[in-house]
Amino acid sequence: MELRPNVKEIPGPKAKKVIEEHHKYMATTTNDPNEYFLVIEKAEGVYWIDVDGNVILDFSSGIGVMNVGLRNPKVIEAIKKQLDLVLHAAGTDYYNPYQVELAKKLVEIAPGDVERKVFLSNSGTEADEAALKIAKWSTNRKMFIAFIGAFHGRTHGTMSLTASKPVQRSRMFPTMPGVEHVPYPNPYRNPWHIDGYEHPDELVNRVIEYIEDYLFEHYVPAEEVAGIFFEPIQGEGGYVVPPKNFFKELKKLADKHGILLIDDEVQMGMGRTGKMWAIEHFDVVPDIVTVAKALGGGIPIGATIFRKDLDFGVSGVHSNTFGGNAVAAAAALAVIEELQNGLIENAQKLEPLFRERLEEMKEKYEIIGDVRGLGLAWGVEFVKDRKTKEYATKERNEIVVEALKRGLALLGCGKSAIRLIPPLIISEEEAKIGLDIFEEAIKVVSEKHGYKIH
Ligand code: PLP
Repeated sequence: MELRPNVKEIPGPKAKKVIEEHHKYMATTTNDPNEYFLVIEKAEGVYWIDVDGNVILDFSSGIGVMNVGLRNPKVIEAIKKQLDLVLHAAGTDYYNPYQVELAKKLVEIAPGDVERKVFLSNSGTEADEAALKIAKWSTNRKMFIAFIGAFHGRTHGTMSLTASKPVQRSRMFPTMPGVEHVPYPNPYRNPWHIDGYEHPDELVNRVIEYIEDYLFEHYVPAEEVAGIFFEPIQGEGGYVVPPKNFFKELKKLADKHGILLIDDEVQMGMGRTGKMWAIEHFDVVPDIVTVAKALGGGIPIGATIFRKDLDFGVSGVHSNTFGGNAVAAAAALAVIEELQNGLIENAQKLEPLFRERLEEMKEKYEIIGDVRGLGLAWGVEFVKDRKTKEYATKERNEIVVEALKRGLALLGCGKSAIRLIPPLIISEEEAKIGLDIFEEAIKVVSEKHGYKIH
C-alpha cells in the first residue's frame, strides 16, 4: 500500500493517554507536549504511523538517525541473521568478529588516507567522551576548544563542550575544566555582524584571529590544548553551514600548535550531506572522527575513529560493556552498505530541489531570515524582522505544530530554526509533498501573525 500523509486527529485519544502517562512516569527530557505530540506505533519507508492511525511523513529521521529509512529491510535482515548467531559477546574482554569487521569498514570509509583505529560505543556522547580521552591521553594536554552553538552531548564531559542552549548546562557547574568556547563562523549571525555569504574569508579570518589573538595571546596556552572539537555543520545549533574555507584555516592553526582536530559527525555524518562525511565538503582530514546516530540504522551504536598513532596502547585506560554489541555491529555494516548503494547519491540528487524550493519560500515569506544546507540537511531560520534578526521562536514552534497537523514531522533546532532532514531513501515526489506541507504551515503562521507574504 502506498502511504500518503493522512491525519484525522492529532493528538488522538490513544496518543493523549500515552503522553499523559509518559509525563507521569518518565523523566522530563526534551519533549514538550504542546509542541510534539507524535506518538509513534510503527513505521514504514519514510512514514510514521501513530497510535491513532495518523500517517505522518518524516522530515526528522528520528533526530538524524534513520538515514537509511525508518525500517530498512536490509538492516532488519542483518539484525535477524545476527539474532540467530549471538546477541552480545563482551567485545572489550573477549573478541568478536562482527566488531572487527565493522571497525575495518569504518577505517576503510573514514576521511583521508590515514591509518586509523576505532573505539566502539553506544551513543554520540560516548563517542565524543572517547575522543576527549584519546586526545588527552595521546597529547598529554588537558585543554579543549569548542564552538559556541555546538552540541556534543549531555554527559558531564561532553556537556562541557556543548554550548547550544544554557539549559543544557544549567545547575551543572563546574563542568569539566579547560574548555574554552569561541564563535562559530555562522554566516548569518556572528558577533562581528559580517555577512558571511558575501564575505566568507573575512568571517573565517575573524574566527581564526579570535583564537590566535585573544585566546592564545591572553589566557589559553596553545601548547596545552589537546584538541579542537567541531561539527562540520552545526546541527542542534541550527543547521549552520560555515564558509567553505573555514576548516582548512582551522587545520593550519591546529597544526601550527600541535592541536588535534576532532570532527563530530554524529548528526551530519553517514551520508546526510550528500557525502559519507560532512567534512569531505571542506577538503580537510581530521585527526579524530566521531559518529553515532545514523550508524546503527535505529540500533544504538557509536564509534570514535582516530589516527592509529593516537591509540591508548595500554589496556584498561578506556573500555565499556556494550560498545560494538554484535547486533548493533551487524546493523551498522548493513547501514554502510545501504548508504554506499545509492542513498548518498539520492541525497545529492535531491539537494537542488530543497535548495530551490526553500530559497523560493525565503523570497516569498518575510518570516524566513535564512536558508542553508547541503544534501538532505537543511535549516530554515525564522525571524521577526529581517533587519534586526530577532528570533521568531514562538512562530517557529507554531510552524512545527501546523506541519504535524497536516502530516509532516519536523524538528526545531537553534533558537528559531527548523531542520529538514528526511531519510535519505525519500523519493522526489515524497520530498515535494513534504515541502508543500512545510510551506503551507509557514503560510498559516505568517497570516496568523501578520508577517508579509510577497
Ligand atoms: N554530537 C552531535 C553533533 C549531536 O547532534 C548529538 C546529539 O544530538 C550528540 C553528539 C550526542 O549524541 P547522543 O544523543 O547519541 O548522545
